[in-house]
Amino acid sequence: MAPMTVDAEALARAADLLASSSHAIALTGAGVSHESGVPTFRGKSGLWTKIGEPRSDGFERFMSDPEGWWKERLFGERDPDIQDLMDKLHAAKPNPGHYAMAELEALGVLRHVITQNGDDLHRQAGTTSLTEVHGNIYWLRCPGCGLRWHEDDLVVDPEALPPWCPEPGCGSPVKTDSVGFGEPVPRAHLQRCELETDRADVFMLAGTSAVVYPVAYYPQLAAQRGVPLIEIDPEPTALSDWATVILRGPSGEVLPQLVEAVRERLPA
Ligand SMILES: [Zn+2]
Repeated sequence: MAPMTVDAEALARAADLLASSSHAIALTGAGVSHESGVPTFRGKSGLWTKIGEPRSDGFERFMSDPEGWWKERLFGERDPDIQDLMDKLHAAKPNPGHYAMAELEALGVLRHVITQNGDDLHRQAGTTSLTEVHGNIYWLRCPGCGLRWHEDDLVVDPEALPPWCPEPGCGSPVKTDSVGFGEPVPRAHLQRCELETDRADVFMLAGTSAVVYPVAYYPQLAAQRGVPLIEIDPEPTALSDWATVILRGPSGEVLPQLVEAVRERLPA
């Protein structure tokens, strides 16, 4: 299938906004990873629609019995649909949309990416200024002090569960970084999102249905300040009415075209 052509006028307008911005930021959601084979959770073909949302007391269970939580995680039986999801997440590779985001950062245009995705694909593509609001499947986190480690840097010993935070004076059990149902989004993530939103002068939305709070607030807050929103999505979203420019199409096709248009507008 030939790549779809994005509306040229809208593309030019979005590129103008980005090229003349001083602090453009982006919010990305599951749609950005869809082209990498990562299943979506919500919507008509979403996993939670199919098997129901996971129980929402996971974080409570972790806090009251971290050893049991880890044992269930490492040795418990897993729903085949969840196992399939984990396999797909671990096998996924960044697509042209992720690389385009990283390129916009390298060009000095995109200053920060807030993502709802925990699949690591923005990192793998090279984005460095990143808030993973819902965590990252390859990382671990201490809910006590908020420190995070890549799984290679903090060994989880199945014989000595749970792993404990090595930070002096903390002593909390460590969990996986992914923010589970019923678990509050870590405070440091929210603070970073607020800071970036306050500084933003262009706000790009890609592949997010913009219905999951708190992240759905940020583009609204920016729009209320008069910050232009650029929406990139194949379908209308809850924020389409707020958007200054809408680029209809999958981000893996739209974003590379947008990067080229931005590049043409930057001083050589
Ligand atoms: Zn800690």
